[in-house]
Amino acid sequence: MTADLFVKGARVVKPDAVVECGLAIREGVIVAALAPGETVDARRTIDAGGRYVLPGLLDTHLHLGTAAQSFDGDCASESRHAVTGGVTTLLPFVITRGSYVEVLPEMQKAVAAGSLVDMVFHAIITREAQIEEIPRLAHEFGVRSFTTFMAYKGREISPSGIQGMSDDQIFSVFRQVAKILGAIAIVHCENMEMIELHQQPFIAANRQDTAAWSDARPVFGELEAIRRMVAFAEAVGIELLIPHMGVGLGSEFLRQKAWGRGRVATETCPHYLLFDKDTDRGVMGKVNPPLRSVEHVEALWQRLVDGTVDVLGSDHCPFTKAVKGTDLWSARAGITAGSAMILPVLLTEGMRRGRLGIQRVVELTSANAARLFGLYPRKGALEVGSDADLVIVDLDREVKVDLRTLNSVVDFSPYEGWVARGWADTTIAGGQVVYEKGEVVAERPRGRYLARGG
Ligand SMILES: [Zn+2]
Repeated sequence: MTADLFVKGARVVKPDAVVECGLAIREGVIVAALAPGETVDARRTIDAGGRYVLPGLLDTHLHLGTAAQSFDGDCASESRHAVTGGVTTLLPFVITRGSYVEVLPEMQKAVAAGSLVDMVFHAIITREAQIEEIPRLAHEFGVRSFTTFMAYKGREISPSGIQGMSDDQIFSVFRQVAKILGAIAIVHCENMEMIELHQQPFIAANRQDTAAWSDARPVFGELEAIRRMVAFAEAVGIELLIPHMGVGLGSEFLRQKAWGRGRVATETCPHYLLFDKDTDRGVMGKVNPPLRSVEHVEALWQRLVDGTVDVLGSDHCPFTKAVKGTDLWSARAGITAGSAMILPVLLTEGMRRGRLGIQRVVELTSANAARLFGLYPRKGALEVGSDADLVIVDLDREVKVDLRTLNSVVDFSPYEGWVARGWADTTIAGGQVVYEKGEVVAERPRGRYLARGG
């Protein structure tokens, strides 16, 4: 047998085991797992040197084409950001004010033309006409995740086009999702009326600190919204993903996962695990749902271990300073940089501090997401037949994050200055080495748009 690439000396991490082996890769797929010492003819051999090798990460949540660049531009630049952190599959939220049928073909082409990694799309539903076209998006384009927003109403409607929906509209989206095999609803859960009430004194005082943004969006309002959507999912009998859950205390009930015919999965983001609301970052810390207290951050780590949280998504918004804005109450919400931060945050703040083990890291960053979105074991595993998407981890590599390291279009980030201990050494996507020794080395785009089947 000959291979295109042979990764020897690997300690392949699976949710239930760590296996020493060599991985033979041909035409973008793992074709053999060899016992230690066995070898194969290959055009290139990489020695992992006994380091951990993980399935390439799936970033279940980011926003492309809604800030400084076009969707095409973001596919190119932010896939470079992704591979910097071992991410080999991106699941961006796509958005249009019109019909998705008209824009999805161009978006699919942009992935192949510019991206270094494979992509699956979530469609953001903000309008009645878009609710109607949901079954068509599944059957013609393989889009099977549909996102709605409870917040972003009134003065918070975003220039990106993100706009909240009423309960009856969201319920109608759920009914459409129920008609489609393998489909899932995603809902941004915050009680907008409670936010509007609580914001008033903070706006009147013209507070500009991060805590003001957070305290005006109360924890109970986020938890109430989550419970309401769980009830809707149960009533309709669908699968629901609660995205970007930053509430560590009071969210334990989500561990239950199943309510009648409804099933619920939970996502959190690296910024909720690293940043608290009371370390003031001004407008840079403005994100929805907001950053929470130190107590919530600490508890959220427990939620990673106890099974409350299933997947990690970055909610990366590739904003520039000009796009973000400077006034707390009118600036765009969203954390800049993230896809590349998932792995370093889990390794540095999780593994090194004894909060979670490497096998749980694999579950949270790839295996669970691949299962949730119907991509397993093509993604989220390093079995024979899986896509050759993997990351060799250097647990000793220390990186002080700066803009150059991030390989993103962003010109500021709350992660600047944070010191990571543990970083991707080598990222391989579709059998090609795309990131190595601190540099993006991909020669050309190789990403594919993945249409999800039922
Ligand atoms: Zn988001």
